[in-house]
Amino acid sequence: MTGESNDNEAAQRLARVCDRIDRAACNAGRKSEDVVLIAVSKTQGTDDIVPLIHAGQRVFGENRIQEAHAKWPALREVYQDISLHMVGQLQSNKAEEAVALFDFIHSLDRPSLLMAVARAMDKLGRHPPCFIQVNIGDESQKGGCAIDALPALIAAAQGAGIPLAGLMCVPPANVEAAPYFALLAKIARDHDLTGLSMGMSGDYETAVMLGATHIRVGTALFGARK
Ligand SMILES: *Cc1c(COP(=O)(O)O)cnc(C)c1O
Repeated sequence: MTGESNDNEAAQRLARVCDRIDRAACNAGRKSEDVVLIAVSKTQGTDDIVPLIHAGQRVFGENRIQEAHAKWPALREVYQDISLHMVGQLQSNKAEEAVALFDFIHSLDRPSLLMAVARAMDKLGRHPPCFIQVNIGDESQKGGCAIDALPALIAAAQGAGIPLAGLMCVPPANVEAAPYFALLAKIARDHDLTGLSMGMSGDYETAVMLGATHIRVGTALFGARK
């Protein structure tokens, strides 16, 4: 495909997603400016990412440190107003790399990782805001902090000087996501946290209606993953 038709297709996909965000926000009495669209570019190459940047998208998400390192430093030399979000599971031994590379981290979910991130922030003098990921469906195979363990983790983050952006979740697959989004919103309210990172390609409109401030959209913007 030529660069131009890639650009057209990316612009169309982006316009379609933004349109749906607008409508969902409007239906909920919210402003679409209060919803940050994160384009999750995992598995997508630079050739797939650049058309979306040309279309105006500036906020991107990745789920692997190594892959993000391979793609984004070079892109950022050209496009300097990019904001990069870490949306995947994070190992403690990668905390320093994550703090150095990302502007937001969505996956704080346990005390050991929290302490590693806090140490990295102190060392690097860089403090990207973090979301605490909540295992909202109580699924054993999934990342995220158990709901019961959340108050202690929030307190630990605050004590360690980590700027908290809010809460993040990935609800169980193949069931209606709305109850999980509503629960995450309630838990965030109970803790006076304003940020809500929830909603993906299949359910971002529902998430927006239920208060999402950050939606993480991959395939609806890029097409199928590589
Ligand atoms: C891949 C991924 C997304 C995007 O998923 P799509 O269904 O492609 O929109 C969102 N959040 C996380 C944590 C992801 O890993």
